[in-house]
Amino acid sequence: MAPESIVDHRLRGALEFRWTDGAQHVVSYQSLRANCPCAGCKSWRAASGNSIASERLPNEGVEVRDIQPVGTYGVQFVFSDGHDRGIFPWVFLRSLVAGVL
Ligand SMILES: [Zn+2]
Repeated sequence: MAPESIVDHRLRGALEFRWTDGAQHVVSYQSLRANCPCAGCKSWRAASGNSIASERLPNEGVEVRDIQPVGTYGVQFVFSDGHDRGIFPWVFLRSLVAGVL
């Protein structure tokens, strides 16, 4: 289920997701970066002992530069640290931003 809209709060360094069921979640760029679900980030987190990344990981100051749709499936974020491999399926994003991961 895709969100109805994504609002970029650049000054707060966060994205706001508005879902079709009325729910709204704000999540920091840093948290999105820290939880990137790509294979590279997953194995890095596993190696560093964090199955679920926390905001303490070294992503401070990271920004979301671009948001690209991936079909009806999800989005791909381009981060300011140059990382753009993470595809975030809507289901994953919804769980992440709702804090139920
Ligand atoms: Zn990644």
